[in-house]
Amino acid sequence: KLASREFSPENTVFPLDGVSIGGNEIVLIAGPCSVESRAQLMEIAHAVREAGAHALRGGAYKPRTSPYAFQGLGEEGLELLAEAREETGLPIVTEVMAPEMVPLVAKYADVLQIGARNMQNFALLHAAGESQRPVLLKRGMSATIEELLMAAEYILSHGNRRVILCERGIRTFENATRNTTDINAIPVVKSLSHLPVILDPSHSTGKWEYVLPIARAAIAAGADGLIVEVHPHPEEALSDGGQSLKPERFVEMVEQVRRIAQAI
Ligand code: PEP
Ligand code: MN
Repeated sequence: KLASREFSPENTVFPLDGVSIGGNEIVLIAGPCSVESRAQLMEIAHAVREAGAHALRGGAYKPRTSPYAFQGLGEEGLELLAEAREETGLPIVTEVMAPEMVPLVAKYADVLQIGARNMQNFALLHAAGESQRPVLLKRGMSATIEELLMAAEYILSHGNRRVILCERGIRTFENATRNTTDINAIPVVKSLSHLPVILDPSHSTGKWEYVLPIARAAIAAGADGLIVEVHPHPEEALSDGGQSLKPERFVEMVEQVRRIAQAI
């Protein structure tokens, strides 16, 4: 299988603008859950760049549980993301939810995010496999590691070899946190696959208080990077405020994970 260690004993390493993912660097992707406005996005983009982030995340198309919740700004959000890239130089990571949307999102984004709820949307995986953009593939909330790797296989087998796997917490009986971080998945995926593996400590905990410790754990466990939600006014966020770090906390997180990366 194309995703397996047997297929490629060497780690897959590729550049994301100035940083290389899958190699010795810890790649930090940060930004709001949703793009909400120009002012919100620019403030966050500058703050995370100052803190040392390598890429800006932000959803323009949001997979919300409720159809009445904020669904994202759509193409206007993509335009704002492109503007933020112009201003800060940060490459953009943003979600695409449907196969027919891949060409439009790929026009603005540097990395296509496929969300947990779409991990087995095979038509979307196929379309992302035909795109020239790297893909950040999130683990489904009830998907096994084997299923995650087979989902990656759809992208790889359609010709796109630049796939980043993302652990974002799974559903368990535990409800003290939004999801349960499967920290095991990091070394397990690293041993089964040559693809880069990152952790999303925001969705995997659902509470900003736990984001720093779990980010540290992920780096200690061998993750190639982190994707983290940041918002200057979490209480006003249109989605996922409770799990978003204020910029000053993100600065602290970056310092801590860099120290851990140096120590291992
Ligand atoms: C997100 O990154 O905002 C998101 C919706 O993540 P997930 O697909 O992991 O729930
Ligand atoms: Mn979110």
